[in-house]
Amino acid sequence: IEQSVYYNDKLAMLGKIAASIAHEIRNPLTSIRGFIQLLQPELLRLGKQDYADIILSEIDRANDIIFEFLNSSKPTAPVKQKIQIASLIKEVVLLFESEALLKGCDIQLSESDPNLYVWVDVKQIKQVLLNIVKNAIEVMSDGQKEHGLIRIRTIKVDHQVWIYIEDNGRGMDQKTLSKLFDPFFTTKEDGTGLGLSVCYRIIKNHGGVIHVESEVGEGTSFRIQLPLN
Ligand code: ADP
Ligand code: MG
Repeated sequence: IEQSVYYNDKLAMLGKIAASIAHEIRNPLTSIRGFIQLLQPELLRLGKQDYADIILSEIDRANDIIFEFLNSSKPTAPVKQKIQIASLIKEVVLLFESEALLKGCDIQLSESDPNLYVWVDVKQIKQVLLNIVKNAIEVMSDGQKEHGLIRIRTIKVDHQVWIYIEDNGRGMDQKTLSKLFDPFFTTKEDGTGLGLSVCYRIIKNHGGVIHVESEVGEGTSFRIQLPLN
């Protein structure tokens, strides 16, 4: 099963609407927070300080979610610098070492050409790699037939670098595959469905392409193509 990705305006439009909604929700949250703080002495007197703590920490959590969301949906222009792709990948893999260990899976990094440099927004491309590797770790399940393995390799193809991120997790059916990059599409109970839509936008802004192949029960292969410096 294969799917190539084309640009959809839906993404940009939804991003804008969602960002303004998120912005509007923040104002009432701020005033709720203020009034709860004013009520705190009363709650303390009633022996209900716990309630105030819960309300405040939940408001803060909601604010964090909105902040994160606004950050990820803001269509910022890339601030580019020259970077060695291998070192960027190494950095990302390092960040996931403990999480992979906990999940009982391995992340295998194939030796790649140290002379491959790209001209990219490092923070954004790191975000892309983080989101894709995180998804791969999340689909590794205890019951799967093989030992969980995530392979990352890079190759040079003409004037591009191709970064493969492959897992032997549960894979995806055709329906999931066709919605993969839609904002808010998720099959997870606690998912946001924003990870891959953000990846898609970032790679597109860099003049690149994301390509996905997947087979149910076999695994998934993401391929990011970026223009070489
Ligand atoms: P989220 O992780 O919050 O669900 P994403 O945009 O990162 O949002 O992913 C969207 C959906 O794509 C996931 O819910 C999952 O169904 C599917 N998916 C992404 N990566 C993989 C993968 N490596 N293997 C199987 N399914 C995946
Ligand atoms: Mg995700």
